[in-house]
Amino acid sequence: HRPGENPQISEEIRQKHLQATGGKVVTRFPPEPNGFLHIGHAKAINLNFRYAEAHGGQCYLRFDDTNPEAEEPRYYEAIKSNVEWLGFTPYKMTAASDYFQELYECALTLIQKGRAYVCHMNQEDISLSRGGADGKGARYNSPWRERSVEENLAEFEKMRSGQYEEGAACLRLKQDMQSGNPFMWDLVAYRVLRHPHCRTGTTWCIYPMYDFTHCLCDSLENITHSMCTTEFINAREAYYWVCDNVEVYKAVQWEYGRLNITNTVLSKRKLTKLVDAGIISSWDDPRVYTLAALRRRGFTPRAINAFVEEIGVTTAFSVVDVKKLEAHVRDDLNKSTLRRMAILDPLLVKITNLADDFEELLSIPNDPRDLAKGDSLLPLTNQLYIDRSDFRTEDDPNFFRLTPNQAVGIYRVGVLSCTRYETDADGKVTLIEGTINRADDAPKPKTFITWVPLSEKYNSPLKAEIRLYSALFKSRNPDNAPGGYLNDVNPQSLTIIEEALVDPRLTDAHVEDKFQFQRVGYFCVDPDSTDKKLVFNLTVSIKEDPNK
Ligand code: ATP
Ligand code: MG
Ligand code: MG
Repeated sequence: HRPGENPQISEEIRQKHLQATGGKVVTRFPPEPNGFLHIGHAKAINLNFRYAEAHGGQCYLRFDDTNPEAEEPRYYEAIKSNVEWLGFTPYKMTAASDYFQELYECALTLIQKGRAYVCHMNQEDISLSRGGADGKGARYNSPWRERSVEENLAEFEKMRSGQYEEGAACLRLKQDMQSGNPFMWDLVAYRVLRHPHCRTGTTWCIYPMYDFTHCLCDSLENITHSMCTTEFINAREAYYWVCDNVEVYKAVQWEYGRLNITNTVLSKRKLTKLVDAGIISSWDDPRVYTLAALRRRGFTPRAINAFVEEIGVTTAFSVVDVKKLEAHVRDDLNKSTLRRMAILDPLLVKITNLADDFEELLSIPNDPRDLAKGDSLLPLTNQLYIDRSDFRTEDDPNFFRLTPNQAVGIYRVGVLSCTRYETDADGKVTLIEGTINRADDAPKPKTFITWVPLSEKYNSPLKAEIRLYSALFKSRNPDNAPGGYLNDVNPQSLTIIEEALVDPRLTDAHVEDKFQFQRVGYFCVDPDSTDKKLVFNLTVSIKEDPNK
């Protein structure tokens, strides 16, 4: 459909709509501010903003805030900042609560047209009248359905003015209890709720329900394409019914498949449980897929947008392999990050053929595969740290790194031969001594290893805490795991290395800065960092792990 071309609207309504939009595409992203956004929402955000952009139109950020008990100011803030972080600028920021007065007037219109009535059945009775829990029993009309317009207006006024307790009255649409579509079974449009709203305070003690609110807000904002997920296919009939009966413009509803990814859960309700159960520390724990967590973990908006665009828009419910997302992140970080060195399990090396006061500043490319990223300086003295895993006391044909009989390349320095090593009482190696051959014609080592310099003068190495992450859940689909997702938690999803060492080029690293730690992975500076200690989060490994 082209804007304003919904086949089922009158010419008069169409003209009014076209006047308001100038024929532009208008979309909206309508989150409920009851939790933090996740990667699934990134798909909805991307879809709505990009679709509008591609057609020279505009996209609203509209908070769907009709449940004052669940909604909190901090969620409005977080959602706004997530959308901006992803790179989108809302045409306007609005909220369903901005339209409470207009929505109330729409309800009055429906009552006046004999299309809504105040009902006093309780929830249980309403459910029974809709055929019971499975909807298969007999369906019958509410005994309050045939009230006069005057009586309904008076009753609705009693609801509005606080003369009914919660549950004692609700406004229902007069649809068709015999329809095959449950969304036509006289939906509740308004309920009594004595709960202050974080934006409208105590102005209202009645609140509109989603199915009544959403379509009318779309109408009020002249939305042309109301995109939603496929659970709303059956709700479409009610969406159109409300607009048609209020006799206002209606958007075209388009449905697309929800995005899910493997080895995690996304819904706000489940994330809340993970926080409450202490399985994750917070909504932005880097092991979950909220946008806040992904940001903290080092995922970039570019990678997230590229990922959701690659998946595309179909009506299929898709469970996408998390490796796909990681591949986009890896690709982006490979291009954008500087290379630095970090040692997770440090082992001191003394180079005996360099003097105690030896000192040299090496100029090292920030990315050997992209010289445009420039060079940086790294000190070299007669002491440095390598990773414990890069040294073995025994030879092994499959081990190409340092042993007493096998020299190894020290990245950008030379070839190191081990001449002696020391162990503690448990046989753990505590020190390596060796000589370095820095000649251009030094025998070529089988491989090079990374290192960090020891230099007081250059304040090296820097201490760092490194947090390594793997999947929070053991199963590809944690919901289907025996006992549900809470029983599928991987106890080894977080490894904290408290005493890692990183090279002094990271002195000025700031929160959210991203680097490749050569041979280790891509890392991002965590907000827990202090002046004394940097904290890094593993974003993704350098290459896809073939064993995962
Ligand atoms: P959740 O159950 O995770 O809380 P929700 O649908 O209740 O999700 P809303 O705040 O209502 O969350 O979502 C705002 C918009 O984002 C809606 O249009 C919704 O359809 C869309 N959306 C939510 N989850 C996904 C998802 N996994 N994939 C694609 N779109 C989604
Ligand atoms: Mg919702
Ligand atoms: Mg929800």
